[in-house]
Parts: sequence; structure tokens; C-alpha cells
Amino acid sequence: MARKVPFITQDQAEAIASQYPTPFYLYDEAGIRANAERLLAAFAWNPGFREYFAVKATPNPALIAILAEYGCGVDCSSETELMLAEAMGLVGERIMFSSNDTPKAEFTYANELGAIVNLDDITHVDAFVDALGGSPMPQTMSLRFNPGGDFAFANGIFGSPEDAKFGLTEPQMLEAAARLRDLGVRHLGIHALLASNTVTNEYYPALARTLFALAVRIQSEVGIHISFVNLSGGVGIAYRPDEPDNDIAAISEGVHAAYNELLVPAGMGDVAIYTELGRYMMAPYGALITRVIHEKRTYHDYLGVDACAANLMRPMLYDAYHHITVLGKEEVPATHVYDVTGMLCENSDRLANGRALPEVQVGDLLYIHDCGAHGHSMGYNYNGRLRSAEVLLCADGSTRLIRRAETPTDYFATLDVLPVGERLKRPRP
Ligand SMILES: *Cc1c(COP(=O)(O)O)cnc(C)c1O
Repeated sequence: MARKVPFITQDQAEAIASQYPTPFYLYDEAGIRANAERLLAAFAWNPGFREYFAVKATPNPALIAILAEYGCGVDCSSETELMLAEAMGLVGERIMFSSNDTPKAEFTYANELGAIVNLDDITHVDAFVDALGGSPMPQTMSLRFNPGGDFAFANGIFGSPEDAKFGLTEPQMLEAAARLRDLGVRHLGIHALLASNTVTNEYYPALARTLFALAVRIQSEVGIHISFVNLSGGVGIAYRPDEPDNDIAAISEGVHAAYNELLVPAGMGDVAIYTELGRYMMAPYGALITRVIHEKRTYHDYLGVDACAANLMRPMLYDAYHHITVLGKEEVPATHVYDVTGMLCENSDRLANGRALPEVQVGDLLYIHDCGAHGHSMGYNYNGRLRSAEVLLCADGSTRLIRRAETPTDYFATLDVLPVGERLKRPRP
């Protein structure tokens, strides 16, 4: 079972809060490193293995730099994500450009950076050639697969690829592979992302079987060299304390067995395994720290905190569960039931509903678990709310500001087209 233990104490959190006002995101460098080491150790059987961190999950260069130390690349899907990669010096095959509905200029930019471009549709072969504007075709490219139907495993269904907008059908994969071959591409990768936040050791092995079988078919029928299989993201974490955690070593063993069964006998033992994990790499190692500023008792008992859905959108968007620890009350029994709300003028602005917690006082600090991926990055500015700072708890116990909190000047910056914009630029005294 997943144990939900904060990576800081109340005293540490109060000390950090005296320097960086709540709410703020806090990331745990030691945790990020230990997890990256576990992933690399699990896939050490595959010499070409590489994790391309899904930048959209946590687009902070200080955090991505930690992963880059372990040889990780970046999975980008937009112009600004490519700019971030370039600014960090992560270029060439350190970038996987896994985009969809891609604007032409982004194909051009990705190609200029030497990224591996992962095409999402058969028509994107021509769109990409057009975006090259006469530049030579890259040696290595990738195609994103969608098998359709339901994607099932022994104990259930992972998802319904048939209803997903992503990827090419199997006949399209074969046709696109042949077209890329004729255009001069020498090495092809295949990719699929068929489920999100899976909490089972069976997802990657089942996906690997599907992709390995297709890889064998493409290489033998089309005669193009398959150089990698990209299992993408989708390996989840246990957000709830009663869920079993994923075991990356067991997951990798399942992929290894499929590899030995399907690829090795086909003479394809040189295929590299790539991943594009986001959540798995970062979610448990980030927390949103927020202070209780009001308690309101009407038909429910509400804790009003100084964070809101603008800081953490997942509960509002997906009714997602994020575990909450009241710092300093870790051992106190959960005898009270609260709705934990932010201050947006939307009833759905909640961080938790009907949550059993120890009795909370105004002024208590709440530690919202597992916010390190798809947390800060999903933030938005509704109601004029500003995104919070991001702070790194370094391995030596010190803290480092890795993104400052937004100010009203940031919020008003795009009004510079109006005369009033000048006045709004000035900070409030
Ligand atoms: C979102 C995304 C990922 C990462 O997904 P996680 O669930 O965070 O692991 C990887 N690849 C692509 C193409 C994505 O869109």
C-alpha cells in the first residue's frame, strides 16, 4: 500500500513559509533522484533505454536539469516547450517532439533543433515534408500508433483508444512507414500512449506486446529499420493511501519478457526502449503547501485555504483525489469531515470533498500530496488569481526558489496594448 508521508515536517514548512508566503509548491530533490535511479536500474537490461521526461507535467528547468543529469531527454509538444529545451541545451535526439494537431512552424522548429519528430497522423508526413522547406529528411523519425477498440488486460480495461484523437491506425502505420522509407528515413520508432495514470504493473508489458508485434510487422513488411519502441507515459502513482503502488522493477521485467519473446527471435534485439513518463517521475515529489485561512460551518464544514483551483486544477477537472496531511497533526485521528475549498467564485473550486481529517484550526498548514506533475503547470488565472512560487527542497536540506510567484504586473502584462495598461504595470505600493 502507498504510505502517504510528507517529505517535510511542520517546523520545516513554517520555516519555508516565513521566506516564501503560502501557497507554494515544494519539490523534493532527494526523492526525484532516488526515483530516477530506480527507473534506470529497472531498465538497465536495455542498453539503449532513455526516459524523455514529459515537459508538460512540470515545465521547470531546475527540475528537468536534475533528470538530465541521469541522461533523460525531454518530451515536448509545443513551441514554448521546445524553447525551454533549447535554452537548457537539450537538443538533437535529447528531444522527442510528440505533438498532435501540430502547427507548421513547430515542425520546422523541432527539425531545426534536431529533435526526433513523432508524427500523430498519416497526413502529417506531407505536412512535415512541407515544413522542412527543402531541408533534408531526418535519418530518424517516429510514428504514433492507435490500435482502436478497447485496450484490455487480464483484470480489466486500461482505456478506449478508439475514442482517442491520437495516433495512426495499423494500416496507416504501414503506409506511413513505407512513405518515410521512400523519403529517405533510415530509422523508425513507434510510439503509443493508450492509458493515463495506470496503477497496475501490467500496463507497460501489455503495451509493449502490442508495439513489439507491430514493430516486427513493420520491419519485415516495409523493410525499414525499427530503432526504438516508445512506451510513452501513463504509468501512474497511487494517489490514495489504500492503493497499491506501481513497482517499476516488476513493470520493467514484464517488458523484458515481452522483448525476449517477440523482438529477439525476430532478430530485433537492438531495439531501444524509450519512455515519456511525466507523472511517475515527478508527482510524488511535489507538494502544494497551503494555509487554512477560514473555517465556515453551514450545511457542510468548510476549510477555506489560501490556494485554489488556479493552483491545483486536477480535483476540479477530474474529481481527482489528492491526499492531505495537516502538518503537525500527522498522528492525530481523522475525526472531522471537511470540504477544503479555495476562493474562486466557482462551487467546484475544491481541493477535497468530504475529507476526514484531524480537527483543523485556522492557521494550520495543509500538505497536499502528489502535486509534482500536472499540478503547477495546469494552473491558470481565472478570477485574476495568480500562480504560486515553486521551491526546491535541495538534497542538502536547503531551499531554492525555482520559480517566483506571479505578481499583478505579470497578470496585466498583455494589456500593454491599452492606455490603461501603463497604469496597471506599476506595482501596488
Ligand atoms: C502527457 C503525455 C505524457 C506523460 O504522461 P504521464 O501520464 O504524465 O506519464 C507522455 N507523452 C505524451 C505524448 C503525453 O501527451
